[in-house]
Amino acid sequence: MNNVRVRIAPSPSGRLHIGTARAALFNWLFARNRGGKFLLRVEDTDESRSSKEMIDVIFNSLKWLGLDWDEEPIFQSKRLDVYNKYVEKLLESSNAYRCWCKPEVLKQKQEEARKKKITSRYDRHCLNLPDDKKEKLLDSGEPFAVRILIPEGKTVFNDLIVGETSRDNSEIDDFIIARSDGRAVYNLAVVVDDHEMGISHVIRGNDHITNTYKQILIYKALSLEPPRFAHIPLILGKDRSKMSKRDGAAGITDYEKMGYMKEAVVNFIALLGWSPGDDREIMTVDEMIESFSLDRINPSNAILDMEKLNWMNGEYIRACDNNRLIDLIRPFLIEAGLTTHLWINSRWEWMLKFVSAMKERCKLLTDFAEQGRYFFVDKFDYEEKGALKYFGPESAGYLKRWLEIIGSLERFDVVNLETSLRGLSEGLGIKPAALIHPTRLALTGTTKGPSLFDLMELFGQQECMKRLTRAIDFIGKIDKNA
Ligand code: GLU
Repeated sequence: MNNVRVRIAPSPSGRLHIGTARAALFNWLFARNRGGKFLLRVEDTDESRSSKEMIDVIFNSLKWLGLDWDEEPIFQSKRLDVYNKYVEKLLESSNAYRCWCKPEVLKQKQEEARKKKITSRYDRHCLNLPDDKKEKLLDSGEPFAVRILIPEGKTVFNDLIVGETSRDNSEIDDFIIARSDGRAVYNLAVVVDDHEMGISHVIRGNDHITNTYKQILIYKALSLEPPRFAHIPLILGKDRSKMSKRDGAAGITDYEKMGYMKEAVVNFIALLGWSPGDDREIMTVDEMIESFSLDRINPSNAILDMEKLNWMNGEYIRACDNNRLIDLIRPFLIEAGLTTHLWINSRWEWMLKFVSAMKERCKLLTDFAEQGRYFFVDKFDYEEKGALKYFGPESAGYLKRWLEIIGSLERFDVVNLETSLRGLSEGLGIKPAALIHPTRLALTGTTKGPSLFDLMELFGQQECMKRLTRAIDFIGKIDKNA
């Protein structure tokens, strides 16, 4: 029987950021590689910081990435009674004790410790109360918290990525496992849920290592076998500082809005700390599943290199089927006010040629709208530097001759256009480039772009003539003003 069961446990207090997305992906790849189960748990016990909208955003982000989960998601907010049962068990076995200390008193003690520059630990005041005092307090109905009793010794675990790590228990406080107001406490809830969900491996960010010691102590106090732990390294910004929302994007769905394809994002995230063991970079999900293993996760921090993501996205754009690409760039074209759904749907063949001409040069899906604007709009300014270089009285003369030829062409296609332009340049005794550059500027307003003849075929005869005429007029006006 396969008993690999892993989970991702996002707190819905924010969107699914890249760190959680990577933890989700590594868990998912591990489960799929081992034929196990990938589960989802929403850590929503802090009601003031959780919202239904955020839960939807997180679920949709996971779906967008293609990370499907195998069982109904667990919501911690619905499991308070379960956590309480475990707290009861810990009280019964004397591995935990009630604490009636008022927050103000605890705060004051902490303040005093701070002044003396000593680490503040709970002084076990309530553990050491005489039994009759404890009973009295309990009978009085005075609210109490429950603290775990940390035994002497050391907590050691063999992390599957970090290796053996340990902490002396004297460094760990008798932390609270049940609050006086009944709200669940993070570390206890995680242990109870991971146990009840049958989690075999906890794969999460190494910022949780401090929690792991506490959780192992809870497992031990409950006489439960802890799962295996694999703590993945942090993701740092390019300057090696801790990644903030300023690096990359705040939530994974922002990447979609910025023009990234999900395949590129998944591929990029997979390589943030993991490698297939060879120099492959572009990989399908199936290939990732096949080669995924925890021992190939690098224990040192990963660096978020957005340029690499852009390169990768460009590769995925080039490999993408053109029909799908039209649908992917559609929202960006419409949002930029360049076209409508109806227009796109009714000119599918033209759109296929458009994406095919543009895809070589685009790194982001938004580039099609930005760099290909002139395909949809004919009123644009000519790039200043280009106009200085390519628009003069001489080129106006060439463009006029070219316009006549264009107007007379029977077949307006790439082959015929190219032959005609080369014929004309020969006739004029000039290099083809002396015609190509001014024509491109006249048609697009820019000096860069896809092959000129592809462009011209896409624009069509009338549009090319219109744009060339406009440019010739424009050059005439500069000459007069000169
Ligand atoms: N709610 C925690 C987080 O979002 C999950 C930690 C865990 O995986 O145990 O970081």
